[in-house]
Amino acid sequence: MRIRSRLQQDVGDVEYRSWLRQMTLAGIDGDEATVLLPTRFLRDWVRSHYGEKITMLWQQANPAIRRVEIRVGKSRSVEAPAGEDRAFGGLAESLAPQPAPPQLSPRPVSHAVVRVAEEMTAPLDPRFTFDSFVVGKPNEFAYACARRVAENPGCKEFNPLFLYGGVGLGKTHLMHAVGLELTRRGAPPATVAYMSAEKFMYRFIAAIRSQQTIEFKDHLRSVDVLMIDDLQFLIGKDNTQEEFFHTFNALVDAGKQIVVSADKSPSDLSGLEDRLRTRLGCGMVADLHATTYELRISILEAKCTRAQAEVPGRVLEFLAHKITTNVRELEGSLNRLIAHAHLFNRPITLETAQEVLHDILKAHDKRVTIDEIQRRVAEHYNMRIGDMVSARRARAVARPRQVAMYLAKQLTSRSLPEIGKKFGNRDHTTVMHACSRVNELIAADSSFAEDVNLLKKMLES
Ligand code: ADP
Ligand code: MG
Repeated sequence: MRIRSRLQQDVGDVEYRSWLRQMTLAGIDGDEATVLLPTRFLRDWVRSHYGEKITMLWQQANPAIRRVEIRVGKSRSVEAPAGEDRAFGGLAESLAPQPAPPQLSPRPVSHAVVRVAEEMTAPLDPRFTFDSFVVGKPNEFAYACARRVAENPGCKEFNPLFLYGGVGLGKTHLMHAVGLELTRRGAPPATVAYMSAEKFMYRFIAAIRSQQTIEFKDHLRSVDVLMIDDLQFLIGKDNTQEEFFHTFNALVDAGKQIVVSADKSPSDLSGLEDRLRTRLGCGMVADLHATTYELRISILEAKCTRAQAEVPGRVLEFLAHKITTNVRELEGSLNRLIAHAHLFNRPITLETAQEVLHDILKAHDKRVTIDEIQRRVAEHYNMRIGDMVSARRARAVARPRQVAMYLAKQLTSRSLPEIGKKFGNRDHTTVMHACSRVNELIAADSSFAEDVNLLKKMLES
């Protein structure tokens, strides 16, 4: 995957757009890559905040690179030699395969195994430690479980450790913290394989294609700790689930630790095979609850201390009030404020905060409700609003109802069961079906797609 999109994915859109979008590749010289940013300020900021991460991603994409130099300059794409004239992501793309950092590599078994193994684990972000994780009521249980696993991996009551919760609440952070602790400490350090469920699937498919499934399995089963992030991705991917299930059993039987994260609890992950679901719930299941105002304030304060930035309490309170769902966004907003203050050499005030975060705050103020979606969609298709919740199944009412369910899923943070309930107490599988049906129609029928898009725009504006 391109370094650029990896970065974007890791740091989130807000931060990426603020700091990293303008970065270009100047060139590669021996073991050093040079990237450029247009101003000194941006260079310093990127160097201190993302330097480590950028180097890590580069090394992952191209093992020959040892250093990444971050400099001020504009890309000279026209004069650059062929192959270096693209944004740095493009170049990296051609530099497969991606090896793991050395401390995570497994014991070499055979050539083929090494090759598969190298591609197996994603790097752990050095910033995601237990120390930098702010503990409060909503996450203290998950935190304690993660700590316990890091201290005593493979212990029966905590195997697997299943972490679940909404986006940006710290699941990935805690998993990395466990992994970092285990690879740093311990003699010998544990072999940790961490990857997203998506990556797991792609690796598995690639192994099948290159007839390396045995190596794939051998490698996975040789690690001490296997961590799979965002397991919900495997819903509906039956073969991959099957493979994961067998790996899972082999590892647990051998006393190895498994850590899994998902957006829902095992019992709510419908679409996952029953026996897998059962096994996932057999160890410790820990929920990361939505943040409270107090926790958000503590997180903001911790980030200010780390960044050595003075931000007035009133501004922190304002942020904690306004940005409530996702810690990543909360962090991104604070970073943006701090940078803005440096850039213009102006103190941070409530007014500047409102101005600088205008776009983010707007998105948060605007929360579409399911009622509003039903009303708009019914209007658009000329049907009675009552038919949104009625049992009628005629196409003329069923299709708009499906569209409304689809939009409810897209535009609100409601869960499938909650949406089903608002549509005349329908089952969550009905909502799921509606979403996939609408997706199919969007792909197949451009005028339908336009219609849905228009509705979406109307509801969002
Ligand atoms: P998830 O995987 O649950 O979507 P992440 O672990 O990626 O969320 O967290 C998103 C961002 O918020 C990360 O930068 C993470 O460091 C930060 N974060 C989340 N919770 C906390 C916390 N309790 N203390 C400090 N940082 C946190
Ligand atoms: Mg995550």
